[in-house]
Amino acid sequence: MKYFPSSPGPDAPTMIPPGQEEVLSPSSEGDASRLEVAAILEGRTRIAGIGWRLTTGSVVGPVRAQTRRYGRTLISSEFAALRAGIRDAARSPGRDLVVLLSDRRAVALLRGEPRPLLRRAQSEALRLRASLGRFRSVRFESEFVPDAELAHAVGEALDVGLHAAAEREEHRVLVMERILARAREVHLEPSPEGWVANGRYRVSLHPMHCECPAWTTRWSRAPIAGRRAQRLPCKHIVALALREGVSVPADLSELARRAPP
Ligand SMILES: [Zn+2]
Repeated sequence: MKYFPSSPGPDAPTMIPPGQEEVLSPSSEGDASRLEVAAILEGRTRIAGIGWRLTTGSVVGPVRAQTRRYGRTLISSEFAALRAGIRDAARSPGRDLVVLLSDRRAVALLRGEPRPLLRRAQSEALRLRASLGRFRSVRFESEFVPDAELAHAVGEALDVGLHAAAEREEHRVLVMERILARAREVHLEPSPEGWVANGRYRVSLHPMHCECPAWTTRWSRAPIAGRRAQRLPCKHIVALALREGVSVPADLSELARRAPP
C-alpha cells in the first residue's frame, strides 16, 4: 500500500495527484467510509448473489444484497456489487473511501494494473473508477473476507435466484409441451431449398430458423444474450424436429437456446 507524503498540517486537505486516486493519506484514513463488497457465482446457471455494506464514520450501514442473472464471472459479479455500493456511497457524506473486495484480480484492475487477458473486466474497472470522481481519495483492498452477516445475505440472494431459475425452467417445459401439441397440426412440405411449413414459412432445423413471426419478431433481434438464451422454438421448428425424432420438450428447448442469433 502506498501513502501520499505526509500532509502539511493536521487540518490541511490532502492533495492527491491525478491518477493516484487509490492513494489515501494516513490522516484521513480514520474517517474514510468503508465499502465492503461480496459476491458468489454459481457456475452452471451463471446466477450470482451480490452484496455490499457501507460504513460511514462510526455509522455501520445495513447489509444490502441482490440476485443477479447472467453473471459472467466472479469479477463481473463483484463489480456489480461495487457499482451498487458506489451508488450508496455517492449519497453519503464521506469523501474518502476504502473499498474491500475479495478477488485480487478485481482489485488489480481497479488499481489500474493492466491485465490483457481480462479486457472486458478491465473496461468495466475503468468505468467504475470514473464513477468515483466525487471522492477525494479511494483505496482498494483485496482478499476481504465478508463477515457472517454479509456472507449470509449474499448466500440468500443466490438461493432466491437459483429458486427462481428452477421455476422458470419448469414453466419453460410446460410452455414447450403446449407448443409440441400445436406442432403436431403443422403441415410440412419439402421444397428445393428445404422445408415449408403450412405452405407459407420456410423452416430449417440446422441452423434453426423459421420465417414465421413467432420466431423472427420475438427472437431474431433479441439484443441480450441472456434473453436469447430464454427463447423457445416456434411450432414449425418443433414440427420439423419431430420429423427428425426430437420430441422431448427439454431437448427441444435446449436446441432453441443454442440457435444462432
Ligand atoms: Zn415458425
